[in-house]
Amino acid sequence: MNPLPVEATKDADKKASSERITFKMKIMKKMSRKFTLLLMCMSLAIVAEANEVTPQTMFEMAKKEQSAFLDTVQTLVNIDSGTGNKDGLNKIEGILTQRLTELEANVMLEPPRSGVGNIVLGYLQGKGKAKFLLMIHYDTVFAEGEAQRRPFRSEQGRIFGPGVADAKGSLALILHSLKLLNEMNYDDYGTITVLFNADEEKGSFGSRDLIQETAAGHDYVLSYEPPDTDAVSVATSGINYLFLDVTGVASHAGSAPDLGRNAIIELSHQLLQLNDLGNPDKKTTVNWTLVKGGEKRNIIPDRASAEGDMRFSDYSEIERVTNDAQKIIQNQLIPGTQVSFHLQRGRPPLPSNPISKQLAITAQKVYKDIGLDLDITKMHFGTDAGYAYQEGAEKPAVLETLGLVGNGLHSPKEYALLNSIAPRLYLTIALIMELSKHSK
Ligand SMILES: [Zn+2]
Repeated sequence: MNPLPVEATKDADKKASSERITFKMKIMKKMSRKFTLLLMCMSLAIVAEANEVTPQTMFEMAKKEQSAFLDTVQTLVNIDSGTGNKDGLNKIEGILTQRLTELEANVMLEPPRSGVGNIVLGYLQGKGKAKFLLMIHYDTVFAEGEAQRRPFRSEQGRIFGPGVADAKGSLALILHSLKLLNEMNYDDYGTITVLFNADEEKGSFGSRDLIQETAAGHDYVLSYEPPDTDAVSVATSGINYLFLDVTGVASHAGSAPDLGRNAIIELSHQLLQLNDLGNPDKKTTVNWTLVKGGEKRNIIPDRASAEGDMRFSDYSEIERVTNDAQKIIQNQLIPGTQVSFHLQRGRPPLPSNPISKQLAITAQKVYKDIGLDLDITKMHFGTDAGYAYQEGAEKPAVLETLGLVGNGLHSPKEYALLNSIAPRLYLTIALIMELSKHSK
């Protein structure tokens, strides 16, 4: 044995110990690198979890949601909420407010400009950029007592009850889509605003301004009127009201008919020549649907009037119809009568436009991911989608008929298809996720 001198031993110890420290540090460095990598992988996996849920998985989740969804629809259908039915609308408002609050949305109630039934607004804040407005009405066309007469029922693949498709199924679609997004911990959207109004069935006069203002701040508006086939709509019709008034001169029909100027005869003449104000190429229709005139059988009438219904999708048709009518009425039959025409604007159309078309194509694409075909249509009804669209603006893109597929609206035959529930829940969540992905 050749013992080392003490100093040498100390040096050796030092060296060994410093080597050990270096070694330890290397291990720690290696470990921490590994740990960091591990953490990165884990967080990537978490991110991937939210972003890369397969369409099939989302569709399965939507299917599992069906029974809770039906409970919601049943609750809503069994409360009468015809436009103007204050108590019924209040009850629905309460349920919607509670559900939105449970989804952690900030809820605001906005009184309508006219009529009854608050506009229920819910706001969800995400961490992304894309801004969505999901909207539908909670009033129906049915009178008090209808829900008791024919409450919610499910039969042979169809669900029935007043407003089941138009639009209580739609309220449930919005609420349960948000619930599914919540369950997935998904918050890559910028904001999701929910708007429920209470006067759509009477023209939305109390809520249209708010719809217009709210929609303007969003990128995408999804409106949930029910389609009659598995389709989304990129255009809806506008409605205007036409008024024709004729003033004549009254006289005795027996003793002095020559002194009179018959307003009814002039009105008839005008209606015949104003019968072709529509334009098939632009899908504008004009129909005269009401006439009034005369007081007594023995008086040459000095007043007669008519009202008409105009449907259109091209804004320029408003001016065209007005100008044409003004020109046509110059040609009078009875001298000494005065004829006047005026057009009153009703619900505006959602005209065909490229951004809504693009949104529909995205919807079609996500639907295809679960093997389903989605039609893109134009509807002839007027809906609140018309108020949401901003003429000439770059946004929002507006898509209509995201509700349940149904038929027989506004009648006791109304139904919605059970097998449209899961696909339509899926459509909303998949569309929000797809659009959020591309606007980060
Ligand atoms: Zn409706």
